[in-house]
This record gives sequence, structure tokens and C-alpha cells, in this order.
Amino acid sequence: MLTITGATHIVIDESTETTGTISSADGVIVDRLHGGDTLDATGCVVTPGLINAHHHLLQSAFRTLPGTRGVAMAEWLPTMAAAYARAGVDAELAHAAASVGVAEGLLSGVTTVADHHLTWPSGADTLAIATATTEAARAIGGRLAFVRGSARDDPQEAAASAGAIIAALLPGVVGGVSDDGMLQLAVGPAGVHSDSRETFELLAEVAAKHRLRRRTQANEQVDVVIALEKYGRRPVDLLEDWGWLAPDVTLAHLCDVTDDEIARLASAGITATHAPGCDLPMGWGIAPVAKLRAAGIVVGLGTSGGGSNDAGHLLADARLAMQVAPLVGAAIPARDVLGMTMAGSAAGLGRAELGHLRTGAAADLCVWDVSGVADAGVADPVAGLLWASPGRRPRHVVVAGRVVVRDYQLVNADERQLVETLRRRLSR
Ligand SMILES: [Zn+2]
Repeated sequence: MLTITGATHIVIDESTETTGTISSADGVIVDRLHGGDTLDATGCVVTPGLINAHHHLLQSAFRTLPGTRGVAMAEWLPTMAAAYARAGVDAELAHAAASVGVAEGLLSGVTTVADHHLTWPSGADTLAIATATTEAARAIGGRLAFVRGSARDDPQEAAASAGAIIAALLPGVVGGVSDDGMLQLAVGPAGVHSDSRETFELLAEVAAKHRLRRRTQANEQVDVVIALEKYGRRPVDLLEDWGWLAPDVTLAHLCDVTDDEIARLASAGITATHAPGCDLPMGWGIAPVAKLRAAGIVVGLGTSGGGSNDAGHLLADARLAMQVAPLVGAAIPARDVLGMTMAGSAAGLGRAELGHLRTGAAADLCVWDVSGVADAGVADPVAGLLWASPGRRPRHVVVAGRVVVRDYQLVNADERQLVETLRRRLSR
């Protein structure tokens, strides 16, 4: 049991706020006060835990890599691939990188991260890599949605590996989420630019069999160019033909979409993930988020990985999303953008218990201290979470009713040790 007391604002969901006290028991939000531990939130805003709907955790080991900034995708890909080959992607590296990525997320308020893992060297033990990643998240205390991705993998091998990962990590589970909600599995090719119709279809079969969510990346500028070159068609047309425009599918990026495509995506019932912290530096453009939302598409927010966005700080990217929104249609209010990091991202994962603090919700929350000079003079402390104090970190973070960050420090791991473990592995 845990009770958070004294909060100036408690964001229950995008449209509901309260003040004072909020409690959890057995990992969920309860409406009656219980005893147990208390966390002092005097001078603080409480929000639901943030959900990073699109990350590539392995890339946390490859940030600011020379030759990956300000270059075309055709240069970026081989440069990243060479770095992966030099380091040797295995379970040990996956564990070290995921530990750093999940810890960075928790320290910046991300209680759930979707890891779209795309790097499976041929011959590698894919189950060991997946297992190591999930163990890293569990040890630190963050929720993980592990997406068995594919980027030019052999279609049959990718599907077999996805099936083996599910059999080993979630045996007998239908729906892709562990009983305790800490691990979710999903599938997702990198995009029509990299993977064939067969890969999309075989991974869809795995998803259908186990009722998993499906995720892919679409309509970043280069995706459109390659689809036109290869097939003479745009990615949305291909996804439609290949059976990937459906309510269980989430599409990341969507920078270059036409009004007609937006209407078709909306009527197909897909969800979207906006990733401006990746799309802008990569030169892919800005997803027309206000238009997507106006069409009825639920939009979540992701950072993407360290190869393009060197930070896994979702709130910083929420600020960026808000700042750039007027350039592509219309401004989006701070609370709506905050909502994208909460219920918006949760919808794409099919997780109705995440992204809000209504009674019965998962007790995942952040306590943001807004009593310092960076928030002084702020009229609206909830809007101020985004507008003021860029790069802010939460004072406390709770996942499933357990405190995982207390006074800006990880509870379950030594931050310096995680850094050292990754450094040693990379220098070998
Ligand atoms: Zn991405």
C-alpha cells in the first residue's frame, strides 16, 4: 500500500484533475485511503507514468555515433550496422543497453517503454537477446513492451523467433501481457522499406495466434521514397494490401501522409506514434498530429532510439511536439500533448489500465516537484510541466505501486554501475 500526500495537482487523466492524496493497494489505484508507506508530494504535481511508445533500446549504446548526424538514411543505416557489427550484438550487450535505456526512462518519468528491437544478427541467439532485455527492465522496475522486430530478416526465421520468444517468456498467455503486467510482447517489421510482404504476413500470423499487438514504422520520408522506387506505390497502400491497416496496428512516424491517407488510416482504426525527437533531426518532417487527431486517430508519443534521438526523455519530446505543432496545421494544448504520452501511447499498446489514475488503474505515477525557480511564476503548473523547465526529472516514480525512483535516484539499481557495465562491454 502506498499513499501520495500533499500534491498541489493530481492529473487523473487528460480531462480530470484533483488535489491532495492518491492511494494504491496491490499495485492499482484505489478510491479509499489506505495506510502503508507515504510519499510526500508537497509542492508537486502528480501525473500518470509516461509511456514511451517507440524506442529502440539497443541504440542507447550507440548515441552520437560519428557519421549518423545530418546524413541521409542510406548513409545512416550502414554506419549503424557497422557499429553493431564492431560491438557484436548479443545478450550481454542487449542487457547492458536496455538497463541504461529503461533506467534513463524511469529517471525521466517513463514507466512503460515499447522497445522495437530491430537488430538480430544472423546466427545470434534471438531468445537470449529478448530474454536479457526483458530481465533488464524487470530488475530495474520498469514495464516493458518488447516488440520482436525485423529489418531485412529472413521472414521464416523472424516468425519462428517471435514464436519461440512468446513460448519461452509468456508461455500459455493469450493477449501478449504477463499476469503482473510488467512484460508485453508484440511484433513489428521495421517498415515496407525494409521488409517484404512475407515478413508482414508471417508476423501477423504469429500476432493473430497469440493475440499480440502489431507495430511498424510508416511514412517517414525515406519509407515513401523507397516504397515508390521498389513497388511504385506508397507505404499506406502496401500496408493496406498486406493486411496491416487494422485496429491492432500502431504506426510510428507518419511524417509524410496525405489527407486521403489520413482518412483511410482513421477508418481502419489504427493508432499512431509521433516521434518528433527522431523525425526532426533525421530530416523526415513533422507528423501532422493535429490533423491525425482531428480525423479521430489516437496518437501516442515515442522518442525512437539513440541512433537518431540521443535521449529517451519523453517529456522533453512532448515539449518539442507541442512547440512544432503549429508548423504543421495547428497548435496542440499542453494537456493534450501530455495525454499523448499517457492514454495516447497506452491505446497503441492496448493497455486500458495504463496512462491514467482512475480507480482501478495500474499504480504507475510520477511526482514532479514544481517548487523551484524554473517553475516560479507559472500560472498553470500542469501546462508548465511541458512549457517550463525543459529536461525536468520527476522526484519520485512509482510502478505498480512500488517506488522505483525516490528523490531522483533509482531504487533498484546503482545508476553509475549501469553506466560502467555498458562502458566495459563496449570497450571490449
Ligand atoms: Zn523508429
